[in-house]
Amino acid sequence: MATTTSTPENTSVPPTNIQMVDLKAQYTAMQEEVDQAILDVVRSGAFINGPAVKQFQAGLEDFLGVQHVIPCANGTDALQIALMALGLEPGDEVIVPAFTYVASAEIIALLRLSPVMVDVDPRTFNIRAEDIEAAITPRTKAIIPVHMFGQSCDMEPIIALANEHSLHIVEDNAQSIGAVYTFSDGRRVRTGAIGDIGCTSFYPSKNLGAYGDGGAINTNSKELADELRKVANHGQSRRYYHDVVGCNSRLDSIQAAVLNCKLPRLEGYCDRRRQAADYYDAHLQGLEGLLTPARQENSTHVFHQYTLRIDGGRRDALQEHLKAAGIPSMIYYPVPLYDQEAFRGTAANDIDFLPVTDLLCKEVISLPMHSEFDEATLAYIVDKVRSFF
Ligand SMILES: *Cc1c(COP(=O)(O)O)cnc(C)c1O
Repeated sequence: MATTTSTPENTSVPPTNIQMVDLKAQYTAMQEEVDQAILDVVRSGAFINGPAVKQFQAGLEDFLGVQHVIPCANGTDALQIALMALGLEPGDEVIVPAFTYVASAEIIALLRLSPVMVDVDPRTFNIRAEDIEAAITPRTKAIIPVHMFGQSCDMEPIIALANEHSLHIVEDNAQSIGAVYTFSDGRRVRTGAIGDIGCTSFYPSKNLGAYGDGGAINTNSKELADELRKVANHGQSRRYYHDVVGCNSRLDSIQAAVLNCKLPRLEGYCDRRRQAADYYDAHLQGLEGLLTPARQENSTHVFHQYTLRIDGGRRDALQEHLKAAGIPSMIYYPVPLYDQEAFRGTAANDIDFLPVTDLLCKEVISLPMHSEFDEATLAYIVDKVRSFF
């Protein structure tokens, strides 16, 4: 973060063009390297499964500390391929939080499996073992813990439940790549590398974003890796011999080239997001009715989003107040998944209300968060948030 000396009191000139995510500034800082990497792919003609893809696969295996990474076309595909590779039967139940992006549950219903939606922790926004346990039935086959907004779910008790009931764990790590979970024995493992299969997204605004769509699946199991690779490649293990009905999902070489430039910088990006979050935390205390995001003890936080809770029905008014000051904000997420038209009748547990999810959808608001802030911008944002209260 640049160290311009500006305080919340000294912000008469508003910074211009404040964005939720500043991809342009991030690009500018590595322009020559990225331009060259893209040009190399174009000149090589190796657009599909070229050397850049293999390099990225190896780099991500190393970063996550896993045996197998299978790059694919996007994060939604990653989740779908993961569930397809587990050989589930129509009607099998998969437990998923009701407070998440639609993709986490969409792929369950798409495969004619039954999404079972459960509530989340009001402070970390993450799914908890106790909520999962209450939802387990003899038809339950898998759990999709979603590591929300940049920190890990508390995985140790979730793993214990999965072992006890023979359930698969597919982590939705689209928002939290780079976060580290610490087990009670001191073992530190990256999110995505904790369960049977991890899935992530390289959508441009994610912490590790491509310049288009991209995704990856990872596992430590050789058998699962073979199955995942097969499903992602038209169900074939040998060319033109199709063992199962699969799909076509690839990370293209140009996106891999961009990701190869960004992966070595990911830790730095996460540090700068944390610094911005520290600044928000320090300057947004003591406001009646505003809760800053909780940090879980056994997980680092990579702040994909910096999400406040605003009580008393004032969230939308705060958003308007910020908008008038030229500050964008987002509501992740405004509607519980069980209230979405698409899921009517598909949820196995047929819920119509989960109190925490319902409350969060009314109270959450995410402030601008990225790796390229200067302090004057952060000072301006906290000043405008404070002036609302
Ligand atoms: C972004 C996201 C996805 C989907 O990723 P795409 O690459 O957009 O398909 C899935 N789950 C969560 C929680 C996400 O935030």
